[in-house]
Amino acid sequence: MIAYLEHFVHGNDTESRPDDDVTCLCKALDLQGSINCGPTEIASKDFGGLQSVKPLAFIRPTGADDVAGVVRAAARSSNLTVAARGNGHSINGQAMADRGIVMDMRSMEENFQVLWINGSAYAEVSGGALWEEVLKRCVLGFGLAPRSWTDYLSLTVGGTLSNAGVSGQAFRYGPQTSNVTELEVVSGKGDTLICSESENSELFFGVLGGLGQFGIITRARVLLQPAPDRVRWIRLVYAEFEDFTRDAELLVTRQEGDSFDYVEGFVFVNSNDPFNGWSTVPLDSEHGFDPTHIPSNAGPVLYCLEVALHYRNSDHPSHIDTVVNRLLGRLGFVKKLKFQVDLSYTEFLLRVKQVEKQAQANCVWDAPHPWLNLFVSQSNIADFDCFVFKKILKDGVGGPILIYPLLRSNRTSIVLPEGGEIFYLVALLRFTPPYPKDPPVEKMVAQNHEIIQYCLHTGIDFKLYLPHYKTQEDWKRHFGNQWTKFLERKASFDPMAILSPGQRIFTRIP
Ligand code: FAD
Repeated sequence: MIAYLEHFVHGNDTESRPDDDVTCLCKALDLQGSINCGPTEIASKDFGGLQSVKPLAFIRPTGADDVAGVVRAAARSSNLTVAARGNGHSINGQAMADRGIVMDMRSMEENFQVLWINGSAYAEVSGGALWEEVLKRCVLGFGLAPRSWTDYLSLTVGGTLSNAGVSGQAFRYGPQTSNVTELEVVSGKGDTLICSESENSELFFGVLGGLGQFGIITRARVLLQPAPDRVRWIRLVYAEFEDFTRDAELLVTRQEGDSFDYVEGFVFVNSNDPFNGWSTVPLDSEHGFDPTHIPSNAGPVLYCLEVALHYRNSDHPSHIDTVVNRLLGRLGFVKKLKFQVDLSYTEFLLRVKQVEKQAQANCVWDAPHPWLNLFVSQSNIADFDCFVFKKILKDGVGGPILIYPLLRSNRTSIVLPEGGEIFYLVALLRFTPPYPKDPPVEKMVAQNHEIIQYCLHTGIDFKLYLPHYKTQEDWKRHFGNQWTKFLERKASFDPMAILSPGQRIFTRIP
């Protein structure tokens, strides 16, 4: 079987493979799922649309046994690599494998269940489940929900846990990686292991935020809480960056019950530009943005704090108004530029699905997305605003420029800026029509590069989130004092560097 696969690694025509051979390969791998050695467009592309490499085979495993069998087979070969592909929503080919094996984690059987352990509820979910599926099953079936989310939920459990998984709840509960208590993982040696804080803890903390380098997550145990019924979603406009950050930091450092349940924010252009300006702020079509309320000394960009409060159907509307007004009373936003809507909890969590529908209709969902995600230390965020938001990005990026504070808490592989308790997520979510309607992708990539170079040259304390580098030297710099630990874990759990080759951190060892 290995000879069969390697035969193809060495450059044979994969497109004319007879079906019989594929059946043989399935048998040799003892695979319950299926294998496709023909053209596999889905495995050669991702949301970023910037990279494309051809895998040798695209395998649809049905469970952990299939995953382990494939990894063990790859380990017996001299050069095969294996990439778990979640929903392929990476930007820079992280879930691809150049002439390696790509495993479609979405095809894993769901086996969803809710467990109660010592009075707490947990969802047992497949590593390939989409968070939107987890949401629906938990809320509709049990009135429960995970505590920490991403903004967009068509992402897989294994894909976000391999990075961090952050959104407006992370200030309170930490990223999604801090909200799982047990994982089933197939290591790079093909061993299927259960890991948690107390069992195989090196593997557990390594895999969380581990960029797919130590194991493939086949199952996760996700902590749940009672799901609220409804959400009041509010946007507040600021003209001054220091007012915006002061209020955002106030909200993320208050105790539960004395703050909102969700805190995010974004930068927008102080103009009537339809994609980057004032009209991107209102939450419904009934409430327009009246620019006459903008203070006359405002700069080229403005800031929007986005907050949300959970409540129950049984809560009286006047009670919600009182709580919201008390929390807003402390904040220094432009008073006439406040927008709010009430919606169900699931509508709120699925809000980006609406954006996806519009973007698909406008043909910008499938266009390339040279996105840039950074964690920037609180101590440098004002400098970052002066140079990056107010100068380089003063005309916007054709999509949201997110900025919100998070609190440090980390035992995982996630790499954070060095100093301070508070750091900011900054995300440039570029949605632009394909060239020639908009600037060529190269220009947007060059702008990302300019921002990174500015940060490096001025000593801004930052780290890339969803990182992408071409050389191991860059990776070493990225990991800083966590590099040695990362290398040790790699040597323990994936010594031949079989897993997640698309991250380009290690080279396969024959
Ligand atoms: P993939 O892109 O398929 O894989 C990502 C990496 O994880 C690859 O290296 C892959 O090999 C590895 N991997 C995948 N599955 C597994 C597994 N089961 N076990 C081990 N390794 C695995 N991120 C946030 O934190 N917050 C957000 O709000 C957010 N919003 C987003 C919105 C959009 C529209 C998009 C496109 C991305 C967003 N992201 C966000 C980024 C997202 O979390 C990452 O891109 C994530 O990797 C995508 O998940 P995926 O399932 O598509 O993973």
